[in-house]
Amino acid sequence: MVKAVVGANWGDEGKGKITDMLGEKADIIVRFQGGANAGHTIINEYGKFALHTLPSGVFYEHTTSIIGNGVALNIPVLFEEIQTIIDQGVPKPKILVSDRAQIVMSYHILFDQYEEERLGGKSFGSTKSGIAPFYSDKFAKIGFQVSELFDDELLKEKVVRVCEQKNVLLEYLYHKPLLKPEELYAELKEYKRMVEPYVCDVSLFLHDAIKAGKEILLEGQLGSLKDTDHGIYPMVTSSSTLAAYGAIGAGIPPYEIKQIITVCKAYSSSVGAGAFVSEIFGGEADELRRRGGDGGEFGATTGRPRRMGWFDVVASKYGCRMQGATDVAFTVLDVLGYLDEIPVCVAYDIDGEITTNFPTTHLLEKAKPVLEILPGWKSDIRGIKKYEELPENCRKYIEFIEEKLGYPITMISNGPGRDEIIYRNK
Ligand code: GDP
Repeated sequence: MVKAVVGANWGDEGKGKITDMLGEKADIIVRFQGGANAGHTIINEYGKFALHTLPSGVFYEHTTSIIGNGVALNIPVLFEEIQTIIDQGVPKPKILVSDRAQIVMSYHILFDQYEEERLGGKSFGSTKSGIAPFYSDKFAKIGFQVSELFDDELLKEKVVRVCEQKNVLLEYLYHKPLLKPEELYAELKEYKRMVEPYVCDVSLFLHDAIKAGKEILLEGQLGSLKDTDHGIYPMVTSSSTLAAYGAIGAGIPPYEIKQIITVCKAYSSSVGAGAFVSEIFGGEADELRRRGGDGGEFGATTGRPRRMGWFDVVASKYGCRMQGATDVAFTVLDVLGYLDEIPVCVAYDIDGEITTNFPTTHLLEKAKPVLEILPGWKSDIRGIKKYEELPENCRKYIEFIEEKLGYPITMISNGPGRDEIIYRNK
C-alpha cells in the first residue's frame, strides 16, 4: 500500500516527524520532489538531524530510502548526509537513487545566487540551492539525468552545449566568470563515482514492491501553498509539492496512492517572501517563534527566522483540498499552551468581500484576516497519549479547526519526539 505524507501549508509543518513515525511500519520511503533547499528536522534515539535530501526513513534498519526521479539531486549533499548519519552511529542505510533523477550542478547554485543578486529587493526569497535553475534546465531539456552519467560520449558533447548556452548569460547578464566544458565534465565524472553504487530503475523496483504488498511512504517537501501551479505563484518552489505529483516523481500509478496524510500545523509559519494573510509581528510573533517547533521556528537549512502567524483556515482548507487529504495530522499543538486566547483566521476580507475560498495571488495580496478568538488551555499537553485526556479547550480548538477544514484530524502531534502522537479514530 502506498501512503503519501505531504504538507497543507507553507512547509515546515512537521512532515519529517510524521514520516519518521510512520516509517516504523514502512518498507520503503521515497522522496519524490524538491531538493536540498528545505529540510526535515528529526529527533530520535540517535540524536537530532536536519535532513535535506535523504528521506526521513533512513534511521530504520528495515527501510529502503529512495530518491525518486522528481527530486533535484544534489549528489555532494546526499553523500555528506549519508556520512553524517553514519558518523553519528546510525546503521548504514539502504539507499536507491532513480536512474531518471536529474542532477543539481554547481552552476545551478551559482545561477541561483547571481539571479537573487540581480533582482535585489525584488527577489523570490530563494534559498540559493540551485532549485529554480535546476528545474528550468530539466524542462528546457538541458539537464543531466543520472542515466546520462553512464554515456561518456553524450556527456562530452553535452557539456560543450551547456557551456555555450550558460556562458552567454554569465558574460552579458551576470558579468561573472565563464564555465569550462572540461570542468563540468570532471564534475560529472566525480558525481558518477559517488552515485554509481546506488543507481536503480526505481519505477520498476516500486512496481515489484507494490505487487509484493510492501508498505511504501511518499514523503513530500514543503506544502500546498508552495506548489508551482496551485501555490502563491510566483513565491513558490519550482516543483509540485502535491501528493498527486508523488505518482510522477516516484514513477508509480496515481491510483496506488491510497492514503494522503496531510500535515497541518496548529499555527502558521512561512519562509521566504509572499502574501501571508494571518501573519503576526513584533513581540507577539517573537514569542511564538521562540516557543515554536523544537527550539524555535528557524529554517532547518538556512537558519532564517520564519515568519509567524495564527492558524489560517482558508489557506489550510485549500491546502488539504489540493492534497486530497484522507487524514490530517495536526502538529505542534503543544506550542500554543502558553496563550490565554488563540486567534484563528477563519475567512479573508478582500475589498470588503468575505470569503473562505483561497484566491490567486493578486487578490491574496489584498486579503485581510477575519479572526475568531478561541480560549486557550493554559497548560502543557506534552506527554498526553489519549485524546480524551487533552484539556477541554484544547479539544475545542482541534474540533473547531476540523469542522472548518472539512477533513478529519486523525493524528495530533504534541511534541517533536517519534512517540508524541495522539491517534484519533474517525
Ligand atoms: P518539515 O519540513 O515539515 O518536516 O518540518 P520541520 O522539520 O522543518 O519543522 C518542524 C519542527 O517542529 C521540527 O523542529 C520538529 O522537530 C518540530 N516538531 C514536529 N512536530 C512537533 C510537535 O508536535 N511539537 C513540537 N513542539 N515540535 C514539533
